[in-house]
Amino acid sequence: MIEQISSQAEIENLYKEGSNAPYTPVKNGYGYYGVLLSHKETGRIHCHLCGQWFKSLGAHVSQAHKIRAKQYRKKFGFSLTQPICSEETSRKSSLLAFAKVKAGKIGAKFGKKNLKKYAAVGHKSTLAYWNKNSICPEQVKQRVINLSDKIEHFPSLTELKTHDVALFNIILRRYKTWNKFKKEIGIPIYNGNVPQTKKIDKGKIIYALREFGKNKKRVPLFNDYKKESRINKYPAVDTVIRHFGSWNRALHAAGLNVKG
Ligand SMILES: [Zn+2]
Repeated sequence: MIEQISSQAEIENLYKEGSNAPYTPVKNGYGYYGVLLSHKETGRIHCHLCGQWFKSLGAHVSQAHKIRAKQYRKKFGFSLTQPICSEETSRKSSLLAFAKVKAGKIGAKFGKKNLKKYAAVGHKSTLAYWNKNSICPEQVKQRVINLSDKIEHFPSLTELKTHDVALFNIILRRYKTWNKFKKEIGIPIYNGNVPQTKKIDKGKIIYALREFGKNKKRVPLFNDYKKESRINKYPAVDTVIRHFGSWNRALHAAGLNVKG
């Protein structure tokens, strides 16, 4: 999405709350939740709704998209005090507000008490906060996958707790159960025993992975293999993970080497 607009090199994440990619891409929109992208040359800000660049999103979204700045912040994972304009505009408006407060023209609205109230509104549940702490949905998923690679199988809840208690707490708080989380990220769930996966054995999976590699002349990535497996009737990604514990392990087994 972003790549289509401009090269990454010209874009930066403004008000750097988020600095730990991957971020969660916006559904039916542009950019990422809790990440305010700024164009390095123009300083303009990326609108999550239309993908265009503006000095200030507040005015733009109310005019073009008919939503208030407050709704916009909420929808895209920012705290209510997060500026959604260029740094220059932000500086100017806070100087202006400061001057007005000094001149006694405005008071209560920008008073300390009010600011505190605004800052308290769900700050910890904004995506910007999550990104900063590597706990946005994509990051949580990636952390579990990293752990799978480390221990060479998809972790049980107990294993998760042992290896990363912070992640364990986040997942249970957010998803309530380990199974709900697994369902969310597409890991198969079984009650009791893992079913006998009759006809598909490791050999078939390895064969499919190699075929993919041969045809596409590259190491299969999880997502494009997933697509391809439906077309070519390769063993499903779920099956691959179930047999090998993680995607990278399956690749290793197929001799398609990946780093590490
Ligand atoms: Zn827009």
